[in-house]
Amino acid sequence: MSAQGPARLELGGPRKDATALEPRPLGQAMLRGFLCKCPHCGSAPLFNGFLRSVDHCAACGEAYHHHRADDLPPYLTIFIVGHIVIALFMGVEEIGDLPLWAHLAIWVPLTSIFTLGLLRPIKGATIGLQWALRMHGFSGRGEDEPQDH
Ligand SMILES: [Zn+2]
Repeated sequence: MSAQGPARLELGGPRKDATALEPRPLGQAMLRGFLCKCPHCGSAPLFNGFLRSVDHCAACGEAYHHHRADDLPPYLTIFIVGHIVIALFMGVEEIGDLPLWAHLAIWVPLTSIFTLGLLRPIKGATIGLQWALRMHGFSGRGEDEPQDH
């Protein structure tokens, strides 16, 4: 490695090369997505329905119509909610002996509430992950065009 290498880059100023890619912090993008905000700018809403993402960010124009979250958000939601509810169920079973109707009255609504509460943020975080890793058309180059691979 040459000692002059970095100096030459600095003298050139900001890179105007079309292949230069801006950094996309993964944690920040996923957190913004989890909060249902645009992973790029963090200011505009990511969804315009319960689970329907916007086609383009209203603030920065980032395209989201091509994201491919697919089945990952429901899978992760089931995984997380299952571990929470089963752990709580087993804890309650250790404490006392509830009748079946009481278990149904507790765990069915709790599972539904946790699932509906987590599904949207997890989908947002998934879109943030795909955006940060430049997956599925989030490359920053010709976003609206089909990818080669
Ligand atoms: Zn945005």
